[in-house]
Amino acid sequence: MEPHPDAFAGPAPALPAAADVAIVGGGIAGVFAALFLARRGLRVVLCDKGPIAGEQSGRNWGWCRQTLRDPAELPLIAASLRLWDDPATTAGHATGFRRTGIAYLAATAEDEARHAAWAEAAAPFQTGSRLIDPRATAALLPQAARRFRGALYTPGDGGAEPARAVPAAARAAAEAGAAILPFCAVRALDTAAGRVAGIVTERGRISAPAVLVAAGAWSRRFLAPLGIDLPQAQVMGSVMRTAPVAGAPALSLAGPRFGFRPRADGGYTVGQAGATILDILPDSLALLPAFRPAWVREWRRLRLRLGRRFLEEARLPRRWSPDGPSPFEAVRVLDPTPSRPILDEAARELARAFPAFAGMRVLARWGGIIDVTPDQLPVISAVARLPGLWLATGLSGHGFGVGPGVGHLAADLIAGRAPLVDPLPFRWDRFAQRPRVSPTG
Ligand SMILES: Cc1cc2nc3c(=O)[nH]c(=O)nc-3n(C[C@H](O)[C@H](O)[C@H](O)COP(=O)(O)OP(=O)(O)OC[C@H]3O[C@@H](n4cnc5c(N)ncnc54)[C@H](O)[C@@H]3O)c2cc1C
Repeated sequence: MEPHPDAFAGPAPALPAAADVAIVGGGIAGVFAALFLARRGLRVVLCDKGPIAGEQSGRNWGWCRQTLRDPAELPLIAASLRLWDDPATTAGHATGFRRTGIAYLAATAEDEARHAAWAEAAAPFQTGSRLIDPRATAALLPQAARRFRGALYTPGDGGAEPARAVPAAARAAAEAGAAILPFCAVRALDTAAGRVAGIVTERGRISAPAVLVAAGAWSRRFLAPLGIDLPQAQVMGSVMRTAPVAGAPALSLAGPRFGFRPRADGGYTVGQAGATILDILPDSLALLPAFRPAWVREWRRLRLRLGRRFLEEARLPRRWSPDGPSPFEAVRVLDPTPSRPILDEAARELARAFPAFAGMRVLARWGGIIDVTPDQLPVISAVARLPGLWLATGLSGHGFGVGPGVGHLAADLIAGRAPLVDPLPFRWDRFAQRPRVSPTG
C-alpha cells in the first residue's frame, strides 16, 4: 500500500472495559476528537479496523484551504488553520503544516465567474483571498509557460503531510490518556433501554455512554443496522507523488486538469482537482433521491463507472452478528486502484503549463475512496433518536484541512462545552429536510 502513514507507535493498550467516549474510526475526525476529549480529562478509547490514517486521511493531497470552500464551513476552516499553526495542538509532534498559499488558476470565463462569485460570498469571512489579474498571476508564477486569465489566490492557505499529521495527533492523544487501538474493528454499537451502551469490537465489548462514529466511507454501512440512513455516497480520487522537482512553484496550485502541492520531501503530490470517479454501487439507486441535485449539477464532471467496486461492495453483507467477523474486518484498508488515464493526463497538462515538471519522476500512485454528503458539508452532531450516538463524518473530499476543527467541535458537543464554531450547519437532522445544494461544487 502506498502511501504509508507513519506507523502509530504508541503503547498497545489492553482493551478497556469501559470508557466515557468510544470512537469508531482513526482518521483525522476521530483522532482529533480523541485528542481534545482526552485533554478534557475524559476516558477515551478509539478503535480503527486498520492502521491509523490508513484510508482517506493518509491518502489525500494535504491541502488545508479556505479557497472555494462552502461559506458555511469558513469559520471551521479558520479555526482549524489556527490549530494547525500551533505546534502545541499535537504536543509538538510534527504534522508538516505550512502556509504556502494556494491558487486556483482561471483558464476560462466560467472559471473567472466561479471565482468571483465565491470571492463575493466569502468576503465577510476575511479569508485574505484575492482575485488576481493575468499580470499578477504571471508574477506569482514566473515558472509558467503560458498566460492565464487570472487566479483566485489565498496566501494564508497551506498544507500538511497526510502521512504524518494524523499519526502525530494520535501520539498526542495517547499521551493525553486516550487508548488508541489500531487493527481493532468495531462490529456494532451496543444499545440498552433505547440509548447507546457501548461498542462491540473484534476483541470484546467496551461499555460507554457516548459513541462517536467517525468511520469515513464506512459510516453509512455501520449505521444501517440501527435503522439510521446516512446519505453518504463514495467517489474515488487518484494521486501520485514525485521525486524532488527543481524550479517548480513553491505554492499549491489547481489548474486546468492538474493540481499539486509541494511536499516537505522536495517532491510534489500531483492529481487533477475535481477529477473523481463515481463508481456505481449496489447502494447507488437508494442514494439517488438525496444526491440527484448534486449529481445533476455536476454531471459534466462526473465519471461514472460500473466495475470491480460494485462486486466488492455487493460481496459485503448488509447484516452480520456482532459475535462473528464483520465487513470491517474483511476490508482493513480501502485501497482502490488509481485511474492511470486521469494521472497521465494530469502529468501531461502539468508539464505543458510548467515545463519544470516535464521530466518529473513519479515515485508512487494511489487511490482513495472519498465519502460525500448531498450538500458536501460534514455531519458533526448528535442523533436525537438514539441518545449517546454522535457523528463526525461525511467530510466530503475536503475534510483534511478542517479535520482538527471537526474533532474539536465533536469533542465540544460531546463534553457539553462551548462549541468552537456554530454547529448548526453540520446538524444531522438537516437531511430530513430538502437537501441544500452547495454553492461551490
Ligand atoms: C485522493 C484524495 C484527495 C483528497 N485531498 C484532500 C485535500 O487536499 N484537502 C482536504 O481537506 N481533504 C482532502 N481529501 C479528503 C480528506 O482526506 C477526507 O475528507 C478526510 O480525510 C476524512 O477523514 P475521516 O476521519 O472522516 O475519514 P477516514 O480518514 O476515511 O477515516 C475513517 C477511518 O474509520 C475506520 N473505520 C471504518 N469503519 C470502522 C469500524 N467499523 N471499526 C473501526 N474502524 C473503522 C477506517 O479504517 C478509517 O481509517 C482527499 C481525499 C482523497 C481520497
